[in-house]
Amino acid sequence: MAGFKALLATKTDGGQSVDWVELTEDDLMDGDVTIKVTHSTLNYKDGLAITGKAPVIRRWPMIPGVDLAGVVESSSSPDYKPGDKVVVNGWQLGETHYGGYAEKARVKSGWLVPLPKQFNCSDAMAIGTAGYTAMLCVMALEEHDVKPGDGPVLVTGASGGVGGVAIALLSKLGYEVAVSTGRTEEEEYLKYLGASEVIDRSEFSGKPAMLGKERWAGAIDSVGSSTLANVLSQTKFGGCVAACGLAQGTDLPTTVMPFILRGITLQGVQSVMTPKARRVEAWERLAKNLDIGKLRAMAVAHPLEDVLELAPQIVEGKVRGRVVFNIG
Ligand code: NDP
Repeated sequence: MAGFKALLATKTDGGQSVDWVELTEDDLMDGDVTIKVTHSTLNYKDGLAITGKAPVIRRWPMIPGVDLAGVVESSSSPDYKPGDKVVVNGWQLGETHYGGYAEKARVKSGWLVPLPKQFNCSDAMAIGTAGYTAMLCVMALEEHDVKPGDGPVLVTGASGGVGGVAIALLSKLGYEVAVSTGRTEEEEYLKYLGASEVIDRSEFSGKPAMLGKERWAGAIDSVGSSTLANVLSQTKFGGCVAACGLAQGTDLPTTVMPFILRGITLQGVQSVMTPKARRVEAWERLAKNLDIGKLRAMAVAHPLEDVLELAPQIVEGKVRGRVVFNIG
């Protein structure tokens, strides 16, 4: 049986080691669809898994990579046949089930989303979990009745993956988009994606007022901590903040005041176990509402071998936009 290349994380006495190995299909985990993986990507969570900075991996050994895109090689599911192009995001890929950093994967057919025809597999991974989560955040704002015309929507962590896709989506949908970033030198890039105002993130790092000036009709936050607390205190009456991340920290030093005096909503967004119907909806919305030129401009292609060098960089907030790995 022909072998294939994979990155394998193994638990050691001192922590973990991550090595390139040769596996065969017999080594793959259970599932009814086997995929030739053509592309994967690097999310913040992948950075945490590979550096071991957080306990993302919960079954050892593990092939990391929370996302993959590729072509079905074999299938015992009536829903998929060889040659179909598919995407997988989350479902604990790279945590408890072998993930995307390998030339092959075997997964449950229920985890697959058919690749929308507007995208190729590289585009799908330029979107990846970061971009699909940005779409879930936009859908959350819409469901809480935040409309274009209600005032600016703030996107934090703007130079990152969730941030970049969120900016592109919101601006295409007609929202006025303000962004906060630690990389104000990226103003031209952020304005190209659709930002109308670029704010230094230090403005959101101090102790928040219980109630600040009402500035945002809504917000998409991938940062957490004092940034999210400041954003909550500045959200307009009845507004909504979609929170998905922890790049600054897991704490949330806020008070009840924005909730009980302004009636705002803090909507958590969790992409990993999102039910299939909502994923399909999110991918359909991405196909309709994401400017493909902007998507391609925020993505940089790398060979998968670069993952070991890039993983610490994304955890340190040094990766701009999205990384796409070409595999095989
Ligand atoms: P990226 O690293 O691409 O983006 C994160 C951005 O946050 C950085 O680019 C930086 O933007 C900003 N940032 C980094 N460190 C700090 C800091 N100390 N203080 C303030 N801002 C900071 O990561 P992703 O976009 O892939 O993910 C973003 C977050 O969302 C992560 O925490 C991730 O775990 C989470 N996430 C959650 C999901 C869910 O299902 N809930 C799904 C996907 C992601 P800038 O330089 O512009 O300031």
